[in-house]
Amino acid sequence: MSGQRVYDFAEGAREMRELLGGKGANIAEMTRLLGPDRVPAGFTITTEACVAYMEGGGTFPAGLDEEIAAALARLEAQAGKRLGDPDDPLLVSVRSGARESMPGMMDTVLNLGLNDDSVEGLASRTGNERFAWDSYRRFVQMYGNVVVGIEGRRFEDLIQAEKRELEVSLDVELDAAALRRLTEAFKSLYEFPADPTAQLHAAVAAVFGSWMGDRAVTYRRLNHIPDSWGTAVNVQQMVFGNKGETSSSGVAFSRDEVTGAPQPSGDFLPNAQGEDVVSGVRTPRDVSELGEWNPEVSEQLMGILRTLERHYGDMQDTEFTVEEGRLYMLQTRNAKRPAQAAVRFAVDAVVEGLLEPEQALLTIDAGTLETLLHPTFDPHSQYELLAEGVAASPGAAQGEVVFDAATAIAAAAEGRDVILVRSFTEADDVGGFHAARGVLTSEGGKASHAALVARGMGVPAVTGAGTLTVDEEAGEVRIAGEVVLRAGDHVAIDGSAGAITADEVPVVAPEMSTAFETVLGWADEVRRLGVRTNADTPEDARRARRFGAEGIGLCRTEHMFFGENRHEAIVAVILADSDDERREALLRLLPLQQGDFESLFEAMDGLPVTIRLLDPPLHEFLPPMREVEDRLEVARRDGSDEVAAIEHELSRVRALQEVNPMLATRGVRLGILFPAIYEMQIEAICRALATARARGVDVHAEIMVPLVDYRRELEVLEEQVERVAADNGLTRGVDYAVGTMIELPRACVRADEIGLAADFCSFGTNDLTQTTLGFSRDDIEGRILSRYIEMGVFDRSPFETLDTPGVGQLVRMGAWLARSAKAEIKLGVCGEHGGDPDSIEFFNDSGIDYVSCSPYRVPVARVAAAQAELRARA
Ligand code: ADP
Ligand code: MG
Ligand code: MG
Repeated sequence: MSGQRVYDFAEGAREMRELLGGKGANIAEMTRLLGPDRVPAGFTITTEACVAYMEGGGTFPAGLDEEIAAALARLEAQAGKRLGDPDDPLLVSVRSGARESMPGMMDTVLNLGLNDDSVEGLASRTGNERFAWDSYRRFVQMYGNVVVGIEGRRFEDLIQAEKRELEVSLDVELDAAALRRLTEAFKSLYEFPADPTAQLHAAVAAVFGSWMGDRAVTYRRLNHIPDSWGTAVNVQQMVFGNKGETSSSGVAFSRDEVTGAPQPSGDFLPNAQGEDVVSGVRTPRDVSELGEWNPEVSEQLMGILRTLERHYGDMQDTEFTVEEGRLYMLQTRNAKRPAQAAVRFAVDAVVEGLLEPEQALLTIDAGTLETLLHPTFDPHSQYELLAEGVAASPGAAQGEVVFDAATAIAAAAEGRDVILVRSFTEADDVGGFHAARGVLTSEGGKASHAALVARGMGVPAVTGAGTLTVDEEAGEVRIAGEVVLRAGDHVAIDGSAGAITADEVPVVAPEMSTAFETVLGWADEVRRLGVRTNADTPEDARRARRFGAEGIGLCRTEHMFFGENRHEAIVAVILADSDDERREALLRLLPLQQGDFESLFEAMDGLPVTIRLLDPPLHEFLPPMREVEDRLEVARRDGSDEVAAIEHELSRVRALQEVNPMLATRGVRLGILFPAIYEMQIEAICRALATARARGVDVHAEIMVPLVDYRRELEVLEEQVERVAADNGLTRGVDYAVGTMIELPRACVRADEIGLAADFCSFGTNDLTQTTLGFSRDDIEGRILSRYIEMGVFDRSPFETLDTPGVGQLVRMGAWLARSAKAEIKLGVCGEHGGDPDSIEFFNDSGIDYVSCSPYRVPVARVAAAQAELRARA
């Protein structure tokens, strides 16, 4: 790469985020929008330079140092100060910034340019010795931590010791002499370079390197961000929030970042710098109090937040610093927010005339909407409140108390529900967030690390529960000295209310808000894809219908065979030697199945119901051979009169053993080899149809034949369906439809031929993924998935998001072939992918008519389908 690798902020723009990173592009955009007086000047070193650095094994590409030196010279000229000048030094920050923001994952160095000489210059120029030494000790600390890799704790320990010595508790109470001593002590921990050019080179290299640091890598894996992007580095003139009580540093959202309410929110901390406001070293003040502290600054900030929101057409998340009463903006980005805030913003933005509904729809991260339907504590339930904290990330969760990420991960692997409880969280805890049902901290507010990460992941969280003392070492939580929770104890949190209790609390599904209904209404106007649900029970069907499902796209009948009485009956069917015996067992199942279908038809009155005939491999219904053998042994030893029956059972089980059941007698093959089972199911559907109709239900039955490879297989089944239906006085095309699931590669390739025989085809993308990739879903999850993601084979599970270049091409071809054979054929997708926004976009562009997904995903799919259509039109 030989293009330009360093851009002044004045040269950048928001469209350049791939090259300049999100932070760099937005700082540039803000500089244009708000003017250079509001945004400290500087320059951005591109992501391409970072990639070249990584490819070069950790060396700067040729010429980069010179480009940086030239940009620095321009910055020095503009600032009228020089880096390292002993009389009046320019100081800079060195800030990471990838294409997508990765909060707290990479490193920043502030106050670069200070050394034993320039600190004196800074002190005398500003007449503020404490400030100069505070800045210097911060720099030596950050440089040691970020660039040299010294554990943060070692600096913290020295600070604590100094505070003990002086009998003070806050950083701001350390005077210039103490800060000077600390700086000296820090410098004894490593070789500190006095030369500012060397400092800058090393800091830039450290930020490049932090892209491949463990924290950043873990975060990218969880968020599907490719390693290949690299990070940009921003070098920016420092402004100082630590110059005394007229200075401050803070974060501000243009609206409430948890609820979306139209009042700005955030925190600020007087006489502070950098991450002080989020780190919990002191308790920050709410941005609503900024006006009391400095009315002029508050007014300016509110105005800027409005300007930024209007400019970006989205809610903003900003960082600012006030230096002796002058406000500077250091960062802005579209705010990550929980679904409730996203929905509220979208609706308010339209009411306020900020956005059109179609633009507003696109500001929502559809994948998060599911959390809006997630449970909260039952408002009518009685429980004893243990403590209250900040409602930091919505949803209710309960489980055992664990105090560290590793324990959370181990417990989750065993299938236990845990709540991660900590005083505060740091980047190293992120793995534990993923494993825990919820997160509880005693410190930190809505903008704390715990809150940000939890919201990003959709994990319920309560933060800043100040009455709790979390003692991770002792494994206890105390209130006023008294132990209230220990590791393993039950705890429940409601991240929508900020409530914490040790009681078992019933949780309930929330009502859909009117704002959410409004958004869904817009989505329905726009979308082309139909949205159905996968439901096997009338409860699921009704729930999905409330969420807007337009029918059942997949009813799995096998779940209906596991209830009481039913399981024995189906085992009897499979083990029977004579047709009579088999028929007798089936007759017991028939009325039960009929009842199942009747209630589904009723729940979906007026809407299509797709019923898939029995699909799973036989062995799922049979007892394991070992177990029958053991029973036989016991019976023989006891001389039981069951011996003959068990011997018979064993011989049948043995005869039906298959080496690869998933690739053996399943789906239509089962139907062809054991016709009586499907015969019963078809009969049950026909009877249910007639009875439901007689009760006035408007039934649209669709019978779906699974696992078809050949047209002939489908034809055999169709003949059977039509015969049974005719015996019940029903006619295909009038009373019901017959179609197939396309879930084998051959069926995709021959979809024209198969389509000719079918009224509809539904792509079963779960099995199609298994059979195309030759990966079993249940076996990939453990070892293979994580290793493959680590190796960069793929960046997320192909069972979560469709493998579009592989499986997707088969879907696209299948849809095209089926449609070209029969223009009016209905094409659906059922399977997990039907509720995944990225996959939905692909289906929308592939000529699919509807997707079908689990009930809770129905609203997600409605919005994602609309967004896909809007993007397709753009
Ligand atoms: P992150 O990506 O972790 O938020 P940033 O690069 O935004 O890291 O830096 C963290 C904090 O450092 C900022 O929020 C801001 O308070 C402070 N900071 C960064 N650059 C400057 C600067 N030029 N002047 C003053 N403070 C700065
Ligand atoms: Mg940071
Ligand atoms: Mg930042």
